[in-house]
Amino acid sequence: MTLIQTQDACFLIDCGILFPYEDFFDIDYLITDLSFLDNYPVTDIIFTHGHEDHIGAVAHLLRKLPDLKVHATQFASSLIRNRLKEQNVYCKITTSKAGFDIKIGKTVITPIHVTHSIPETTALVISNKDNDFSALFMSDFKYDRSPEVERPFDIENMKRLMNQSKLKIAMLDSTNILYPSKTTSESELIEDIHKVVAEAKGRLFVTLFSSNIFRMDTFIKAARAAKRPFATLGRSVNSYMKIARECGLLQYKESELNEAEDIIDREDCLIFVSGCQGDYRSAMRRLAYGEHGVTTLKNGDTVIFSSKVIPGNEDKVFRIYNKITEAGAEIITARDRHIHASGHASQEDLKNLVSEIQPDIYIPIHGETFFLKRHQDFIEDNFKDIRVFKSNNFKEINIYPDGEVKTKQHDILPPVIIHGDHIEIERNKISERRKMGCNGAVFISCAKDKVNLTMQGIPEIGLTEQPHIIKLVKQRLNKTRKGETEDDIKVEVRRYLKSILGYKPQTFVHIH
Ligand SMILES: [Zn+2]
Repeated sequence: MTLIQTQDACFLIDCGILFPYEDFFDIDYLITDLSFLDNYPVTDIIFTHGHEDHIGAVAHLLRKLPDLKVHATQFASSLIRNRLKEQNVYCKITTSKAGFDIKIGKTVITPIHVTHSIPETTALVISNKDNDFSALFMSDFKYDRSPEVERPFDIENMKRLMNQSKLKIAMLDSTNILYPSKTTSESELIEDIHKVVAEAKGRLFVTLFSSNIFRMDTFIKAARAAKRPFATLGRSVNSYMKIARECGLLQYKESELNEAEDIIDREDCLIFVSGCQGDYRSAMRRLAYGEHGVTTLKNGDTVIFSSKVIPGNEDKVFRIYNKITEAGAEIITARDRHIHASGHASQEDLKNLVSEIQPDIYIPIHGETFFLKRHQDFIEDNFKDIRVFKSNNFKEINIYPDGEVKTKQHDILPPVIIHGDHIEIERNKISERRKMGCNGAVFISCAKDKVNLTMQGIPEIGLTEQPHIIKLVKQRLNKTRKGETEDDIKVEVRRYLKSILGYKPQTFVHIH
């Protein structure tokens, strides 16, 4: 989430979620601490595109600021509406379109079409009516001039708008800054995808990022060419495919999309499967583990991973590769054939693009702290005339009309943890969960002479100690003065269990 303030406007760009980056014990996601917004007169939010890390926290934001005006392209709007419906939040969304200005006071924001791995992605050029400045905000994008599956990156309009102003500011995505060469164009995959689909002998399972509608489109065309009927397995691919069709972004006849159950036994079927990152509950994982009720993999099947492995997911994905292989099926990944391209610009693309735009001031955005630093170094090394300013979370960058720049670091608020019914869970509760989760829990309830004992997550050898533990508790009940008893029992039971198990389970004692 980025907050932009001009002389007469204050608005947000994007409002995403972060997937858990450490073991938070099965929480759902993290969001920005929105309390910082209390200090700003925000009136609008503009979404650049529909990826989860850009729209995912929209319901949390609208609960806090219900009067916010929401702008998003048609596809992103549909995805946002889905999100909001899940969480019972309702709001009006103004559909934005590349080339059509959004006006807030004298501030003009023009969405520009850029290429990326989800349809209708826009960069934003922010300026005022006097053209004192033009600020290009471009989070996720790739610089694809001939994607074929979508419109090319609109560099002409971007340059025209940027060149209208005296002061040019650019804020660009850092995701692929570690990759030196150009990012492969989506059009370069078409041939291999068609070949792979045509050559496969048996059933074909295709897993990909569900929001990658262009890739789905290429596979659908390949399936048609190879006369393979297609279907989906998994909520995510199914839902994205239908929304994309409703928005006119994916062309297939309703009758063409089969129910998986109806065609899955045919050797010529092509099934889109959710879960290319091996997520625990995903259809791909259940299929690989033989736990999907619809079918099991067998000799002669081919599973295509038209995706990359996101760093951190390697273990999960490799386990799935093993399971698929054990079942006798073939695996094809982007290492074997040209079946995946990134949706982000690499170094060479950035160099070409920055040469075209020629900004005066440059701010790397969107990426790990390490990436932002590399991005800064890269621009400074290659463009001696551009002044680069580091951004990081909760940093305020003030740019004045004469080009002076002042920065101020605000307190960094840690992300808020969300679990269950989209509810916040405090950090100390995670630490309580960790203790119970790692060491198990013992519950002791005493009333008069009766002791009840419940053990959770304790190995069998500990369970066999239950009579002895009850005896210990009874002895202690008789011995200790009232008031100290609960703690004393807790200490004694924990100590005893440590002598058996080697660690102390969380222990709760309640005396009635
Ligand atoms: Zn994106």
